[in-house]
Amino acid sequence: MLEIKPLVLGPVSTNCYLIVNSESGEAVVIDPAWDGQVILAEAQKRGWRIGQLWYTHAHFDHFAGAAVLAGGLDPQPVVALHPLDRDLRQLQGGAPFFGMQIDPGPDPTVDLIHEQVLRLGNIEFEVRHTPGHTPGHVVFYCAREAVLFSGDLIFRGSVGRTDLPGGDWEALIKSIQEQVFTLPDETRIYSGHGEKTSVGDEKRTNPFVHL
Ligand SMILES: [Zn+2]
Ligand SMILES: [Zn+2]
Repeated sequence: MLEIKPLVLGPVSTNCYLIVNSESGEAVVIDPAWDGQVILAEAQKRGWRIGQLWYTHAHFDHFAGAAVLAGGLDPQPVVALHPLDRDLRQLQGGAPFFGMQIDPGPDPTVDLIHEQVLRLGNIEFEVRHTPGHTPGHVVFYCAREAVLFSGDLIFRGSVGRTDLPGGDWEALIKSIQEQVFTLPDETRIYSGHGEKTSVGDEKRTNPFVHL
């Protein structure tokens, strides 16, 4: 079974998801947003073993906790990012643009590609490349559990901003229509900020995207 522990972290209230295969205790952190020691403590408290970090995209508020988190892990985790966000990560995810400095942490060890399958024990996730908010933005879809981790592509009642470097409004809307709205209505969406939602709810009510 897949268990999901959301943590709201950092200066812009980013959702970090600690997810585990409860049969094996293997865990993944989707977007180690901030406060690596908090993420680590949550996992240790539950006896979950973090082996992988999956990034939806390389804005600083989604991986600024990676350095401290990885510092507390042995062996070192797999770090997965789409190569089109590699440069953004090197630039501290745009943190200096907001007057901040972050440690970008461990280099990515896996280049994510569209339709790649990621595994958490026997639970499979499909990578979907969804450019628009950033060029290398991806979402993680688990069909078996009917769950989508959508990063900053789509939120409850809103969508990701496209006014930062690399943003592209048309690409964002296309990504939502082709990679999110084609999923079953009952798919739960866990996004990068705010409350969770579902594909059906957003198809009906999201004011930014029309079918
Ligand atoms: Zn972002
Ligand atoms: Zn964000």
